[in-house]
Amino acid sequence: MIPFAATAEDILQELATLRAADAPTHGGKVLSYVYDSGLAAVDDLAAAAMLAVQPLNGLDPTTFTSIAVMEREVITFMRTLLGGTEDIVGTVTSGGTESCMLAVKTARENFRGVGVPRLLAPASVHAAFHKAAHYFGLALDLIPVDADGRADTAAMVAAMGPDVALVVISAPSYPHAVLDPVSEIAAAAQSQGIDCHVDSCIGGLVLPFWPDLPDWDLRVPGVTSISADLHKYGYAPKGASVLLTRGRDRQRSQYFATTSWPGYPVVNSTLLGSKSAGPLAASWAIIKLLGTAGFAELAVSCHRATVALLGTVAGIEGLRVFGSPTGPLFAVAVDANAPADRRIDPHHWADRLKAHGFTAQLQPSFTQADGSVLPRTTHLTITPVTESRLPELQEAMFQAAEEVRGTPGIEPAQALGAAEGSMSTLLGGGSQITMDSATARQILGAFGLDGAGLPADMAPVLALVEALPRPVTQWLLTELLASLVEPGQDAHG
Ligand SMILES: *Cc1c(COP(=O)(O)O)cnc(C)c1O
Repeated sequence: MIPFAATAEDILQELATLRAADAPTHGGKVLSYVYDSGLAAVDDLAAAAMLAVQPLNGLDPTTFTSIAVMEREVITFMRTLLGGTEDIVGTVTSGGTESCMLAVKTARENFRGVGVPRLLAPASVHAAFHKAAHYFGLALDLIPVDADGRADTAAMVAAMGPDVALVVISAPSYPHAVLDPVSEIAAAAQSQGIDCHVDSCIGGLVLPFWPDLPDWDLRVPGVTSISADLHKYGYAPKGASVLLTRGRDRQRSQYFATTSWPGYPVVNSTLLGSKSAGPLAASWAIIKLLGTAGFAELAVSCHRATVALLGTVAGIEGLRVFGSPTGPLFAVAVDANAPADRRIDPHHWADRLKAHGFTAQLQPSFTQADGSVLPRTTHLTITPVTESRLPELQEAMFQAAEEVRGTPGIEPAQALGAAEGSMSTLLGGGSQITMDSATARQILGAFGLDGAGLPADMAPVLALVEALPRPVTQWLLTELLASLVEPGQDAHG
């Protein structure tokens, strides 16, 4: 007999204690990261489907044939939903980032130009494409968006050329929910023989049911691939997204295959080798349960809640909805037209919203390549469960606004001043810093960001993100996250 180190009961009790400290995944309290359909039947079925395939290895659908059947059926459903016809093929991936990375990898494989291939996108494109360009060695060319976060079509078209491997646009963008001009940009790309990816990771399962939209999906001829996350508005557990690609030959470049080693022949459609079939099975089951009509109903609920909340923001003096959002998400910014003593800083507002039980996502101000600055905002993602919580959320939004109206936002310089003088000098001359782990911890400590997680108020942290040179921020945040999982950092170590 194996001498177990603990009983299952004790272990699960410990897990329950850990889980109790997590942000709530259900009930609409966290307005990002989690997508709650509000239907227990969806979650229960997903859990049962995950359990049913738990021992499988998604590495080999010829050995575990259920995986091929489920993947084919999910792709078929998504292809129909996104206006694809017979020439569209696809893959279920582990998430939006992997779908985006594979779209870039495919474009790089198919790139026939000379020199370093360029990835062209509006500055609003998801960070997953920064990651893809970094991993796969493409030059990232980000075209500034206008003051409302909209892609500049003329500038995008002007930037196209023979060294561009892929143009990426969003439907909609994550930060500000902008539906990019898909038809215009895809047509221009197509006329120059450039592939065009539509990132509908967040919109893919809601925009098909959104009223009054121009074509944005595979119905647009120049669109060569599209991504849609099943673990967002497909309500599946994390680990599932779809990448659909126009043309079998184009898509085959996505695969990695080798027989040049002494082991089994390797054929991978995605980045992983051995992989779980759980998120695929859950997605497949949810699609069968909801069907198109079910997704439509949930999307319409999101639409009603979003319209109501956009109205709520419009009714709060000192705040404004940023730009013209499309889909169940939007960003809130200060209304600079209001008198200074009536203005609301969106980050102070988010911190107060949190105190009232709702977690929104703080987004720092952003200086684009042309020097123009997009303001700091607070992002809200609306899910079907939100509609039943509307009065509570709206009340919290009003209350939070009253509590911080007239309180100026934290200036970046102010945020730096919070550190000791020598530290700010150190940070001011970003290039002089020794970027090692010990120095990072020292600096984080000076800002009160060491040890047990993050402070209650995030506004000062975001001001710091705005103040510091980007490489410094990236280095410090890496240290912060890496330190979270170092042995001996908490009582459980
Ligand atoms: C969520 C998202 C991604 C990345 O997806 P992950 O599932 O978080 O890896 C990419 N693009 C957009 C527009 C998204 O909303």
